[in-house]
Amino acid sequence: MEKITSFTINHLDLEPGVYVSRVDNYAGAYITTFDLRMTAPNREPVMNTAELHTIEHLAATYLRNNEEWADKVVYFGPMGCRTGCYMLLAGELTSRDVVPLVTGMFEFIRDFEGDIPGAAARDCGNYLDQNLDMAKWLAKRYLDNTLYNITEKHLVYPE
Ligand SMILES: [Zn+2]
Repeated sequence: MEKITSFTINHLDLEPGVYVSRVDNYAGAYITTFDLRMTAPNREPVMNTAELHTIEHLAATYLRNNEEWADKVVYFGPMGCRTGCYMLLAGELTSRDVVPLVTGMFEFIRDFEGDIPGAAARDCGNYLDQNLDMAKWLAKRYLDNTLYNITEKHLVYPE
């Protein structure tokens, strides 16, 4: 079988950032896949599943309630390697287009207080596996180290 595109990205020098991994066209409709990389692959500890699960719940809530973007949200979810998240949006987009959205989303997570949306037995398949404090810590780290001063190197995958 052919190696799929996302496995051809050189992870050796990759730094946290907001990257477009692919743009697909389904019957005339574009969908852009973003890799929200929150840790340096293979060089920093990965995120634990509980905090990644909390990030997923809060990020999905934020995106689906965002007035500007809600109707373009296709998917949000964690990467299996636990170094970041995938965000799929309708439209042919660049990383620059979504920096304000991603920044607002992680500020929402960093500042979140109260009950995690959907963290209930009826709404989630593993509702006890949550860690809000670590999710907030990771969101702050991504904002401070990456999103607030993002440069081209952290927006575009190296060739
Ligand atoms: Zn869940």
